[in-house]
Amino acid sequence: MRYALVTGGSRGLGRAVCLKLAAQGYPVLINYKSNEEAALETKRLVEEAGGQAELMPFDVSVQAEVEAAVDKWQDAHPEDYIAVLVNNAGIRRDNLMIFMQDDDWNSVLNTNLNSFFFLTRRVLKNMLSKRWGRIVNMASLSGIKGLAGQTNYSAAKAALIGATKALAQEVAARKITVNAVAPGFIATDMTKELPEDELKKMIPVGRFGTPEEVAAAVGFLTSDEAAYITGEVISVNGGLYT
Ligand code: NAP
Repeated sequence: MRYALVTGGSRGLGRAVCLKLAAQGYPVLINYKSNEEAALETKRLVEEAGGQAELMPFDVSVQAEVEAAVDKWQDAHPEDYIAVLVNNAGIRRDNLMIFMQDDDWNSVLNTNLNSFFFLTRRVLKNMLSKRWGRIVNMASLSGIKGLAGQTNYSAAKAALIGATKALAQEVAARKITVNAVAPGFIATDMTKELPEDELKKMIPVGRFGTPEEVAAAVGFLTSDEAAYITGEVISVNGGLYT
C-alpha cells in the first residue's frame, strides 16, 4: 500500500496537509518532534474524517533518528512503501545577520534543509524501485525574494528550491515528481507573533492565508493529475511577490 509521510504534521500547515492527503485516500504518517498532544489531535481529525493515520515522531534534523524511524516503520510494513513525502517541518530563528548566533544559523539549516537530504534520500530508494512517487518540499516566499532578518531561513529555503529542481531531473524517468510550495504569510503558530494588521496591508489579497489553502496546492501536486509537473515552485502568497 502507498503511504504518505508528512514531516511536522502535528500543527499548522503540516496538519492541514495530513488531512488533505488522508482525504485523497492515503494512510498518513504524522511526523513531529515533541508535541505529541498536537500530533494526536491531527490523528484524531484524520480518523474523524474517515482516514487512517499513524504517529511517527523523530527529529528531522538528526540523520540517525530519521533513518532509524524509517527503517523501523519499513520493517513493520514490509508490503508497503512511502509513496508521498512532504518535507514540511521547519523553524525560524530570525535576527539581523550581525547579531545572528551560530546556533540560529545551524539549527535553521539543519531543520529546514539538511532534513530534506536525510529523509528524501532514505525514502527515495523505494520510490525508485516501485517506479512511482511524489515529493513536495515546503519552501517559502523568503527563499524566493529574501527577507531581512532571515538570512538563515532564506538561505535554507532557497537551497531547498535548488535541490527540488535538481532532484526532479534525476528521478523524472521513474515517475517520481519533485516540487516545492512557497507560502507567503499563513496563519499558524510560526506567524502568530507577527504584526498581522501591519503586514496584511502589503498583501494584495489583504489577509494572511490559511493552512488549508497551502494544503490544496500540496494535494494537487501529489495527485495523478499533476504527473507532468515537476521541478516547479507553486507560490501560495496572496499576490505578495516583491
Ligand atoms: P509551525 O506551526 O511552527 O509547525 C511546525 C511543525 O514542524 C510542527 O509540527 C513541529 O513539530 C515540526 N517540527 C519543527 N522542528 C522539527 C524537527 N526538528 N523535527 C520534526 N518536526 C519538527 O509551522 P508552520 O507555519 O506550519 O510551517 C510549516 C512549514 O511551512 C515550515 O517549513 C515553514 O518554514 C513553512 N512556511 C510557513 C509559512 C507561514 O507563514 N506559516 C510561510 C512560509 C513557509 P512539534 O509540534 O513537535 O513542535
